[in-house]
Amino acid sequence: MRLVILGGPGAGKGTQGRMLCENLSIPWIATGEIFRNAIATDTELGRQAAPYVEKGELVPDPITIELIRHRLTEADARDGWLLDGYPRTAFQAEELDFLLHDLGQELDWAIWLDAPVPILMQRSLDRSREDDAPEIVRRRIDLFHQRTIPITEYYEPRHKLLRIDANRLVEDIQQDLLDRLKAKHL
Ligand code: AMP
Repeated sequence: MRLVILGGPGAGKGTQGRMLCENLSIPWIATGEIFRNAIATDTELGRQAAPYVEKGELVPDPITIELIRHRLTEADARDGWLLDGYPRTAFQAEELDFLLHDLGQELDWAIWLDAPVPILMQRSLDRSREDDAPEIVRRRIDLFHQRTIPITEYYEPRHKLLRIDANRLVEDIQQDLLDRLKAKHL
């Protein structure tokens, strides 16, 4: 299955995405995690991404799109994947469709983990990562509304959007996700 998971910072993309990958036996591909690792190990990609990631800004499209193009052609990504953190803009969503078209593949679902802003804020502050300082979280939530919400409007008319209420217990959200994906594939 080929999935993308959308949601603001703290919506539970990482937690739900990882659980779903284990349940469906597909690789979890998270651009934020790839950038953070690249920064920690001081690679060329890390040096390019650091000024943006550290401020909570989006890494420029040419860097991010190239990263995804490369990652989706690796052997483990042949039969399915879950993308966490990509696409983050309607432009990236379109680019993903072009790339999948080139690869002869198709996206199954865009999962939208929907949660109210105060919950996103609280959960992000609770996990205290370096890019989870209050003013950076606020910037990331703003960017989410400006740039990522339009992606839901990209997938909705294509009948690819699966909206999930993310303001619930972790296990309940996961079960709902699995049930709904199964129902869609019957
Ligand atoms: P995340 O862990 O998904 O919240 O991502 C952490 C940071 O990585 C973001 O604040 C951005 O700086 C960068 N990033 C991750 N994914 C993307 C993307 N698709 N486009 C641009 N920047 C991204």
